[in-house]
Amino acid sequence: MTVKKQNAKDRTKNFNEVAFGLSQEEAVNEASRCLFCKKPRCSTKCPVEIDIPRFIEAIKNKKFDDAIKIIKEKNNLPGVCGRVCPQEDQCEGVCVLAAKKTPINIGGLERFAADWELKEGTPYENQRFRTGQASDKGQGTRTSGAKVAVIGSGPAGLTCAGDLARLGYRVTVFEALHTAGGVLVYGIPEFRLPKDIVKKEVEYLKSLGVEIKMNFIVGKVSTLKELYEEGYKAVFIGTGAGLPSFMKIPGENLNRVYSSNELLTRANLMKAYLFPEYDTPINIGRRVAVIGGGNTAMDSARVSLRLGAEKVYIVYRRSEKEMPARREEVENAKEEGIELHILTLPKKILGDEKDFVKGMECVKMKLGEPDASGRRRPIPIEGSEFTMDVDTVIVAVGQSPNPVFLKATPELKVDKWNKVVVDPETQATNLKGVYAGGDATYGDDTVIAAMGAGKRAARAIHDYLRRNDKCPITKSQ
Ligand SMILES: Cc1cc2nc3c(=O)[nH]c(=O)nc-3n(C[C@H](O)[C@H](O)[C@H](O)COP(=O)(O)OP(=O)(O)OC[C@H]3O[C@@H](n4cnc5c(N)ncnc54)[C@H](O)[C@@H]3O)c2cc1C
Ligand code: SF4
Repeated sequence: MTVKKQNAKDRTKNFNEVAFGLSQEEAVNEASRCLFCKKPRCSTKCPVEIDIPRFIEAIKNKKFDDAIKIIKEKNNLPGVCGRVCPQEDQCEGVCVLAAKKTPINIGGLERFAADWELKEGTPYENQRFRTGQASDKGQGTRTSGAKVAVIGSGPAGLTCAGDLARLGYRVTVFEALHTAGGVLVYGIPEFRLPKDIVKKEVEYLKSLGVEIKMNFIVGKVSTLKELYEEGYKAVFIGTGAGLPSFMKIPGENLNRVYSSNELLTRANLMKAYLFPEYDTPINIGRRVAVIGGGNTAMDSARVSLRLGAEKVYIVYRRSEKEMPARREEVENAKEEGIELHILTLPKKILGDEKDFVKGMECVKMKLGEPDASGRRRPIPIEGSEFTMDVDTVIVAVGQSPNPVFLKATPELKVDKWNKVVVDPETQATNLKGVYAGGDATYGDDTVIAAMGAGKRAARAIHDYLRRNDKCPITKSQ
């Protein structure tokens, strides 16, 4: 079922959510299409293991309270996942109805259940949150279990923390920024994921007993060793991939060249789009080139448009088919008037006499044989150089793991890209009792992959602590 959206012309002038959720009637109708397969393929592709047909059946029967309860057995961030999880490559991609091009809109149904709970539901395990009693200190169901530290409050850290809290551990999340959520708050724009939704789901985690300490950079305020000295018995590293990559081409130091990180952080976390109400202007020009083809590039382009740019281009060296961004977001960007310059590689950013961007020199590409990533390798076409008339360039060509914690923890094993090396089954690192997951281990990936890793790590930490004499917890999940 296609979901209704804000009209393309109107939405480029505001930061309100683009996609409207399913109405109750639409959700029930959509759920009624499910075949409730005996061996449901959809669930096998869910990294956080949601019993998908069971929650769909509850929606079909208008038992919305049950639906959200079933989802929350496994997923503490349903409002987030229902909006940004790449379902098309996961559950919906393998739904038996996908063969007929009409997979069940599982993401839409998940979002419906989450939004329904926020508006009308009887909260599951969550009375304090509903009555506003959850506080920043985490006043939920904290028990006397062992203390576990989680570094980073992105989807990996929050998932690990939530699962451990439910098991009765005393979990503290340490977050470098002043707001919890990681990329969910500083990267993904308001029009795709309203910050209020993230805030409410973080409140839910607090109500489970998770304590969150903001403005706390592990590696600066405290080291890993000091956390152990303070009595933490196990640690999960979910520090993400917050270090922007550049192309290392001439002109990247010119004025009005931004990393996507800087642009999006200023827009999302520092509310630049509410200038002058929030004092964080972004000097965006009239003609913007965004380099890259992932979700970050699409978000940067669409944010630039909403900040007042007249013309925005996506410049990507492969073809549209190879763009790693979600299909839906490429379509949204195109509907909004963003132009794709595919098979194009920037070679040089050109500056004026005051060192502001005045253009970008590019070369056209063709596709050769597949490379190590399985995608066809882009090859420059000789003599095809041309100049784009742009005054702003945003570089969105990937991110690598956040280095602050890693620098302070040289004993932790990382690979040549600074990704923390883990056992893929347990997320265990080379250090005893220390686990890691999410973008800190994969480089930039997806919300649901980070959550899956957080879940596996929580299970392994539980096993590790049960085997440890000092740990009083014996409850199994
Ligand atoms: C612009 C953008 C759009 C995206 N869109 C999508 C999408 O549509 N769908 C999708 O599935 N994925 C998307 N992704 C990818 C997805 O957001 C990430 O894969 C996911 O957030 C990774 O989660 P994480 O918990 O590993 O790390 P993060 O979300 O990066 O969180 C890490 C947290 O750790 C904190 N931290 C770092 N170092 C320290 C330290 N030393 N001490 C304390 N705290 C620290 C950081 O401040 C941050 O809050 C997008 C990414 C970006 C950048
Ligand atoms: S695979 Fe599709 S049709 Fe079958 S149970 Fe899952 S959602 Fe329903």
